[in-house]
Formats: sequence, structure tokens, C-alpha cells
Amino acid sequence: MASTTLQVNEFRLIAKSGNARRGTFATAHGLVETPVFMPVGTQASVKAVDPRLVAETGARMLIANTYHLWLRPGAELVAEQGGLHAFMRWPHAIATDSGGFQAFSLAERVKVSEDGFEFSSHLDGARKKLTPEESMKVQGLLGSDIALQLDICPPGGAADGVLLDAVARTTRWAARCIEAKKPGQALVGIIQGGTNPELRLRHAEELARLPLEGLALGGFSVGEPNADMHRTLAVVVPFVDARRPRYLMGVGTPEDLVKAIGCGVDVFDCVMPTRNARNGQVFTTNGKLVIRNAIYREDKRPLDEQCDCHTCTHGFSRAYIRHLYIAKELLAYELLSIHNLRFYARLTHEARRAIEQDVYDTWAHETLRGWQMGKEIRS
Ligand SMILES: [Zn+2]
Repeated sequence: MASTTLQVNEFRLIAKSGNARRGTFATAHGLVETPVFMPVGTQASVKAVDPRLVAETGARMLIANTYHLWLRPGAELVAEQGGLHAFMRWPHAIATDSGGFQAFSLAERVKVSEDGFEFSSHLDGARKKLTPEESMKVQGLLGSDIALQLDICPPGGAADGVLLDAVARTTRWAARCIEAKKPGQALVGIIQGGTNPELRLRHAEELARLPLEGLALGGFSVGEPNADMHRTLAVVVPFVDARRPRYLMGVGTPEDLVKAIGCGVDVFDCVMPTRNARNGQVFTTNGKLVIRNAIYREDKRPLDEQCDCHTCTHGFSRAYIRHLYIAKELLAYELLSIHNLRFYARLTHEARRAIEQDVYDTWAHETLRGWQMGKEIRS
């Protein structure tokens, strides 16, 4: 490992195994070891979990939601409270998305033009306008370490004409975001192009010519078949500029992570570990466990006997957590979320070790075979 200190926003590759990469990204709030998974903190909170326990799972960067925080409590208020890190008591790195995806999918009466999105807030109907400049201003006030550019994200299966327009406008908006961003804040460009590899590759090259600190793959996991996503990633990701971190937005299952890391993806985020936890679905080394099942009524074992998370190492039994879950006790959500977040953090930790030892493909193959994730465990 090189001994020179990394500058803020600098990315350094440490090792490769096939196309899989092991790196470090420096932020003002600590080093982020890649491949990395970011827990989602939509409303400046990883739902149901104290930030100290989020960090204890191994997470060192999370992603918060610009659209939601802009509408409530407001970016100026967060700035006055000392910025997002101070406001939510998370001393580690924070990324924020651009708000575009939610402005498009959550808001009402949306109008899209070259200037940006115009929409009515889903909270109070107020008319708002999200332009590349406004998104940069809001993310600057929130004070995240890493900002995402405003982009156009077409739905899965969109026609080539729609994808072409989205790609072209996303590049123009990237240039506007670069002009408007807060000095020092890292900015990530977003590669669009659906499941069309030529379009994706061309867009990746276009964005790589801009002064962006990272390149994200947007527009996946938006309704297209999962196999199409992986086929596209396999031919596109190895050719995305190797000097910058590559971020696959909003993906995915543990299997998705293992496969995408193998293609050369460095950064992930997804609501899955925390959302599934709140639905009583638990990731374990032997498959998926559904905590409300009657077979766990008197089960004294932890969720996963091989897990080193706070929940599994402090004597919380399946029987107790099942009782909490069925009684709708709030502690159930915290205990289950911690376990699932630790599962994702441990997965990326093991992936990093496998890349360092140059055995990634073997590790990935054995890991995927061992999980049999599709399967629900019944014991
Ligand atoms: Zn656990």
C-alpha cells in the first residue's frame, strides 16, 4: 500500500483481482475503503437505528436524500444547525443524491424542461423548481462530502430515442452542476443509457472528460430484468474511467453486489437491508430468514449463529425478536436493521480481502453458492 497521504476527494486503487477493484476514497470525514456499501438515510436518519450503532456495523459512509431534506426541514435550517454531519450526529462521510429521482417519481404535476424539474411538493402541494444549480445549492447547504449531479433517469425499457435525449441532457446538466457546485465538495456524474451498452459506453466517455470526482451508473434497477442489468454492467463497467470511483446507484441484493463488484463497481447504496429488516426479512449466511414464522417461537438461537453484529452477540434470541416483531415493538426494527446492515458491511469487507488476495472470482463463486439467497431457511 502506498504510504503517501491522500488528499480530500482523491481516489487510490490498491489492488485488482480480475475486474474487481480495491481502493480508498478520501473525504474530509475519513477514508472510505472500497468496495463499499452506503446505508440509506433518507430523512437524515438510517431508519430506526442510532448512528453510533450504524457505525458499529462497519458503515463509514451513508447517503441522504436531497429532495426530502430540501422540502423538510429545509436546507437552510440544516446549514444553520451546522450541516448534515452535525445535525444527524454522523461524524463519517455522507453522500447526497441530486433530488431528481424523487422530484420525478414522488412529486405531483411534474414538468421537465431543459432548465430542470418543476413540480408540486408531495407534502403541501407547493410549486418548486429543481434545476442543476438549485440541486448544487441545496447539497452545498446540506454539506455532504459527495454530491450527485442532477440527471434524467428514464424508466426501464425506455425506447432508444428517450435514452439518447436523457444521455445528452444529463451531460449538459453535469456541466452546469460543475459550474454551480460548492468548492471542495466532490461531484459525481451519472452515466445513463438504459441497457444499451454502446450508449452507456459513449456516455461514460463523455462524462470522463469532465472534472468529476466519481462516475455513477444510474438508471438501473428501475424495472428492467435483473439479467439485463448484469449483462450491461459486465460489458460497460470495466471501461468506465479506472481512475475514478464507480458507483452503482440503488442496487441491490447481496447477489447483485457480489456480481457487480466482480465487474469493477466500487460503491453501492440500497434501502434493501433496512427496508427488509422492517418487513421482518433477515439476511443470513444460510439464506433468508422470515422472523414471524412460527418455527422461531421458542428458538433461543441468535438470528445467525455466524454473525458478529450487536444483535447476534448480545443474546437477543429469535424467539424474543419474533415476539417484538409480532407485537410491533419498535426495538424489533432496530435489532433487525443492525443485523442486516452488518450483513452488507461484512460482505463488502470480505470482498475487499478477496480482492487483496487476488482470489475474488473463487470467493464470489463460493459465496453465491453458500447463500442460496433465493431460498428461505426453515429451521
Ligand atoms: Zn447479526
